[in-house]
Amino acid sequence: MAEETIFSKIIRKEIPAEILYQDELVTAFRDLFPKAPTHILIVPNVLIPTVNEVEAEHEQALGRLFTVARKLAEQAGISEDGYRLIVNCNRHGGQEVFHIHMHLLGGRSLGPMLA
Ligand code: IMP
Repeated sequence: MAEETIFSKIIRKEIPAEILYQDELVTAFRDLFPKAPTHILIVPNVLIPTVNEVEAEHEQALGRLFTVARKLAEQAGISEDGYRLIVNCNRHGGQEVFHIHMHLLGGRSLGPMLA
């Protein structure tokens, strides 16, 4: 069994977070240390530590990360200018919280990806 992270507590509303969206599969909340004017984390409610643990049974929840990202980008008014979606995996990917999450970043030009 993978160890829970702070994100499970946010999903269960046991600790405060600015939750922008929640359904039976995913939860979206503002990043506590935003790297852009819009910085939202979208996470599956089920604990999947990293992309390395992704299985076919997770496809519905992981697919929903994209539809929720699209809706939240529209709500934030950043769809036309554009935005970046990031999923980090493990140490070399820069992952710090071991509960898969999609970063939705926008509201300013983010430049080339690896700059
Ligand atoms: P990672 O580097 O892809 O794992 O991203 C983890 C993200 O979680 C970082 O952008 C952090 O700022 C963010 N973060 C860490 N703890 C919290 C929290 O308690 N609430 C909201 N965001 C958090």
